[in-house]
Amino acid sequence: MSQLFSDRILTWFDNHGRKHLPWQQNVNPYRVWVSEIMLQQTQVTTVIPYFERFMARFPTVVELANAPQDDVLQLWTGLGYYARARNLHKAAMQVRDEHNGEFPDTLEGVMALPGIGRSTAGAILSIAGGQSHPILDGNVKRVLARYFAISGWPGTKSVENALWEYATDLMPQQRANHYTQAMMDMGATLCTRSKPKCDECPLQSDCVAYAQGKQTDYPGKKPKKTLPEKQTVMSVILCQRSVLLQQRPQTGIWGGLWSFFEREPGTLLSSQLSQLIGSHETLDIVEPFRHTFSHYHLDIEPEVINCEQFPQQVAESGWRWVSLDEPLEVGVPTPVKRILTALSKQL
Ligand code: SF4
Repeated sequence: MSQLFSDRILTWFDNHGRKHLPWQQNVNPYRVWVSEIMLQQTQVTTVIPYFERFMARFPTVVELANAPQDDVLQLWTGLGYYARARNLHKAAMQVRDEHNGEFPDTLEGVMALPGIGRSTAGAILSIAGGQSHPILDGNVKRVLARYFAISGWPGTKSVENALWEYATDLMPQQRANHYTQAMMDMGATLCTRSKPKCDECPLQSDCVAYAQGKQTDYPGKKPKKTLPEKQTVMSVILCQRSVLLQQRPQTGIWGGLWSFFEREPGTLLSSQLSQLIGSHETLDIVEPFRHTFSHYHLDIEPEVINCEQFPQQVAESGWRWVSLDEPLEVGVPTPVKRILTALSKQL
């Protein structure tokens, strides 16, 4: 069966697969790796301009490794899940320092790099190296869960293990690169989440979910839980069309990005900040809004503190003034970007 399965997938790929995406040109492990990391949680159309900017700035893994982290995060601004960018940078340094700048070519070697799991490692080695290693990203999980009618949420270990077994059995020895690309394309363009195009699918004749008429029952949904809500006040210290940003710690949410000063609602500005900013007025010009992470909602209350003159000493390392009139040179979280945009429009 597996031969038949991969033959059908490959024939479909020859006729309908995507072959002109930027990372499908000048294929090498570095380009495939960056694209795979960007494509986690993000749509192809969103990723394309980010990928192109990234490659223009860091054409090789060594150039990425040699860049300051701020430059990497800045190019990531808007893609979210910034741990991906930090890990990418760390892994690039590891490739430079431990592998002489050459991407490792074994599954174990690739998986030892930060931020690369089994599926991403399989994608890099199969697409860039033609090695026969399966992948199991969200698209492939959906195709296999439907084709074999595997119930249950793939986040459950037993379901994930079953899917890996099928993915491994079906993986062909030949044309591993096209097969991997084809499976991703199938999930992205045919076997889509809500309205799969089964009539155009090469697997229709023996797809169990199709036979049952229950395509969208697979894969099983993640058990729902209500997200907790948190609140924060973001103090936007403003002076003459510049705002003061603070670099966040490397670990935790928005690690390494530049953000406003935060405090809990109902608490006072820290004495260090109060002393620093001196005489000021508070402007109510940016509406509160909600930012939702995968694991909680954050209700953000922006508080614009307009200083009459530039504070004398902003000597803290990890603080910097950023002009509202110049392009950002550092990475900022999406809500900070939103506040900066709103502020530019208001002032
Ligand atoms: Fe998905 Fe439909 Fe193809 Fe089955 S027949 S794999 S549900 S697109």
